[in-house]
Amino acid sequence: MQPEKRSDQTQLTHDTRHDKGAVSPPIYQSSLFSFSDYDSMIARFRGDSDQPLYSRVDNPTVKELQEKVAKLEQGEACLAFSSGMAAISNAILSVVSPGDKVVCINHVYPDTYRFLRGFCQRFRIRSEFVDGESLESVKAALSGAKLLYLESPSSWVMGEQDLRSLAELAQSMGVTTIIDNSWASPMYQKPLTLGIDIVVHSASKYISGHSDVVAGLVIASRERIAAITSGVSPFLGGKLSANEAWLLIRGLRTLPLRMRQHQESALSIARQLLAHPQVTRVYHPGIEPLPSSALSGYSGLFAFELDESVDIPRFCNALGLFHMGVSWGGFESLVMPAISVLNQAGEFNSARDFGVSPRVVRVSIGLEETEELWLDLQQAIAAAR
Ligand SMILES: *Cc1c(COP(=O)(O)O)cnc(C)c1O
Repeated sequence: MQPEKRSDQTQLTHDTRHDKGAVSPPIYQSSLFSFSDYDSMIARFRGDSDQPLYSRVDNPTVKELQEKVAKLEQGEACLAFSSGMAAISNAILSVVSPGDKVVCINHVYPDTYRFLRGFCQRFRIRSEFVDGESLESVKAALSGAKLLYLESPSSWVMGEQDLRSLAELAQSMGVTTIIDNSWASPMYQKPLTLGIDIVVHSASKYISGHSDVVAGLVIASRERIAAITSGVSPFLGGKLSANEAWLLIRGLRTLPLRMRQHQESALSIARQLLAHPQVTRVYHPGIEPLPSSALSGYSGLFAFELDESVDIPRFCNALGLFHMGVSWGGFESLVMPAISVLNQAGEFNSARDFGVSPRVVRVSIGLEETEELWLDLQQAIAAAR
């Protein structure tokens, strides 16, 4: 079978053979790579050779990860970073300059919001936040913009954007598009195939899958990645380590399997919560799928609203299988009440900026037995009334 015809699952599982027949890649724990002779050194500096030079710019283990992820997202090239935020800030800064305007959806990841509202503002890069589900609102805001920043489904409320239409609209207006694709992972959404220009991931979530790495990825055309490697990333220096790249390569092997289980458990629990008398709303893109949805599956992160009869702190404390914690996408189930973000001192100008009800609770459904997780949620709701 042709390698390009292989499914994602086979592609990720059937690894390439390495030195001495190793099926797992070596970890190149070396800061620099030396040259055998003068001519090969000069050739590398001239750009006529792809021999690795220095691990801030090209480590072979990191490169192997980048090649795998580029293929998975059906992009030409990928660049790995030390965190999702490093990937996001590098991608944004490769597109905008002082005086430019960014249009960003509401309910974007909180640190992306702070980066645009705070950091970018200092460099005279303006941001306007719009309802990403309204094509009309986005269109109105896009005039004179340089960048459209999307996150679909969005943070906390899992709002989906019509990616195909927005990509087309932005392209017709000469606006570059970036999407944060962390929620769906490359398994369930491939935005480059819909016309989006740049995909970013927090690889700390599903791609790692084991809650032991903080990392980020950017996938785009060779030209757009070159704009980052020539103009931004070497100077900001947020490179990924070879060890962490290796852990992400390991995570990728089970990504298809893990996503299938996260999808099944989370959908089942979300549907049962929807029918629960104390639950007033469930935020899961699979509950009422959008006709224009670009998702081919669902991950394990969603949120729901509890009615006033349930005491949220007591509900959190009563859970036995859900840890209280930030982040998501790992093997372990997590709970996070929106109140905790609303109480973060001085972060958002107002609760309205965050736009999420204090009755909302977010859960990351892990890989525990579905029925046991559901029983745990039910008993915790009952205990908190
Ligand atoms: C966690 C997260 C990020 C930031 O990623 P880090 O790896 O923590 O820097 C960005 N976007 C979304 C949607 C996230 O959930």
